[in-house]
Amino acid sequence: MADPTRWLVLDLDHLPRADDALLTDARRLAGDAEPRLHDAGWARYLAAPVGTEAVDLATWTARPGVHRAWLQEDDAVFTGKLWPNGAPGFEAAGWPSTGKELLFIAGPCAVESAVQMDEIAAACAQAGAQWLRGGAWKPRTSPYDFQGLGARGLEMLRDAGDRHGLRVITEVIGTDELPEVAAASDVLQIGARNAQNFPLLRKLGAVDRPVLLKRGFGCTLRELVGAAEYVMAHGNPRVMLCERGIRSFEASTRFTFDINAVPLLKQTTHLPVIADPSHGTGRAPLVGPVARAAVAAGADGVMIEVHPDPDRALSDGRQAVGLDELPELVTGLRRVAEAVGRAL
Ligand code: PEP
Ligand code: MN
Repeated sequence: MADPTRWLVLDLDHLPRADDALLTDARRLAGDAEPRLHDAGWARYLAAPVGTEAVDLATWTARPGVHRAWLQEDDAVFTGKLWPNGAPGFEAAGWPSTGKELLFIAGPCAVESAVQMDEIAAACAQAGAQWLRGGAWKPRTSPYDFQGLGARGLEMLRDAGDRHGLRVITEVIGTDELPEVAAASDVLQIGARNAQNFPLLRKLGAVDRPVLLKRGFGCTLRELVGAAEYVMAHGNPRVMLCERGIRSFEASTRFTFDINAVPLLKQTTHLPVIADPSHGTGRAPLVGPVARAAVAAGADGVMIEVHPDPDRALSDGRQAVGLDELPELVTGLRRVAEAVGRAL
């Protein structure tokens, strides 16, 4: 069998039938290895492991039903840089993911009350955020900690967003909550603890909502990309990747924000990359500097946890930026954005 380190990928109009000459020829090129045929609904492809065989891409592209043919080093087709004909990007809750404009998401770790959400939403809108965040179902380490307000919290988030002209994003902690969250939230956040919850990732494929996929704190970038590939392969092309810090031996910060992830994901995938310096550091004074570093490194947006009274926050207070500190953080971020040709 051919060495499967190189794949021939054909972006197809429709999948070939079993006796189709396209399939026969792809099998022959793959040394009789079975090409993979995948239909995700929104797109379909054939991928054949071709090892070091010489491949005439122009001939493959010219065949009926083939939009484009290319070679790539791994089998992550939909997330890969070479997908979709060099024209990536999508609209995610009012944000055009391929524009110059950075995405700025802000809000509390958890939705705590309607009054809190209204105050936060007003400050976030004022600071230039496009999306309001806030967890309604919280995945907490201890079962005795605040678990979130659930459906009531979701409603408070939605109301506050609507009142202040912000789209909303909230975490889906499991398949049970998915329909309810998808009905009320503009964007679905998949938390670090669910980064490889494959039943959930599969179900996200069938939902018509953009997905912000957070990197698990024990996941490699390959695993994060694999998770994104799941969602896309199951039917949903609107996936955004989020670096939120990984576990390291360093104990002076909550997690270690992996700055490498930002340019690496930008260089190897065509998906938007969002930075979460709040969980990535776990300390409010580090949030601004790390957010700026992420934007300088090429991030397409940042997600920041804020709170009117961080000392009293019901979760993640230590990393919450006070509402009074938000304008200064945005000013600094805007300067870096401008320096790298982006806008905020
Ligand atoms: C959050 O965004 O509040 C959260 C729980 O994040 P993570 O899944 O990255 O820990
Ligand atoms: Mn949090």
